[in-house]
Amino acid sequence: MQSKYGTLAQLDSVLEFAAKRQASASLATVGETASGRPIRQLSLGNEPCTAMLVVLAGVHAREWVATGGAHCWIAELADSPPMPGVCLRVLPMLNPDGYSFSRTNNRHWRKNRGGLEGRGVDLNRNFGVANSSWGHGTNNSRSEVFQGLAPFSEPETRAAAAAVKAAVAAVGGDPAKVGVLDVHCCARVVYPPFWYSRASASLATLARVASVLDLQI
Ligand SMILES: [Zn+2]
Repeated sequence: MQSKYGTLAQLDSVLEFAAKRQASASLATVGETASGRPIRQLSLGNEPCTAMLVVLAGVHAREWVATGGAHCWIAELADSPPMPGVCLRVLPMLNPDGYSFSRTNNRHWRKNRGGLEGRGVDLNRNFGVANSSWGHGTNNSRSEVFQGLAPFSEPETRAAAAAVKAAVAAVGGDPAKVGVLDVHCCARVVYPPFWYSRASASLATLARVASVLDLQI
């Protein structure tokens, strides 16, 4: 089973391939993990763009098919012409420390490898969004949903946040022109943004989009 999914080096080579294949592509390191591994971002499309999509994958270490799928998708995109006006920024391996540990030590490892005494933080609980991410986890560092010592305490979540902010800046500072997709594989569902608060004016539209995507997966 493990051989069906790439090592970090093999997956990284997909990014290198895509960056060389597309004239509009570029590769950047946007963060560094607790173990010193780079967090890489592939940009595709001719900027400036009228809209931007940021795709994250691999937040949870054991969800190999999420990050593997993202790399397959990148390999396909490398052979496709850029979409006019639309740019992509993909961080397909946000948690390389956890991914590596899940391959070598504990297949069911979920968190990163930072936190208290290296026991890891659930990155999905470390984003500074009250009662959705931060505050939705626990303060027990041995728990699978340990949220860390503070919002954005982890380099992986800081890298993701910086990538989204940079994407907003790249489209003139209008967050309505930026979409963010975080790919997991725990269930066949799509959650729209702001689902936690039920307060978004566009929630009905987003829910319809999510329901259409639900039918595709
Ligand atoms: Zn997940």
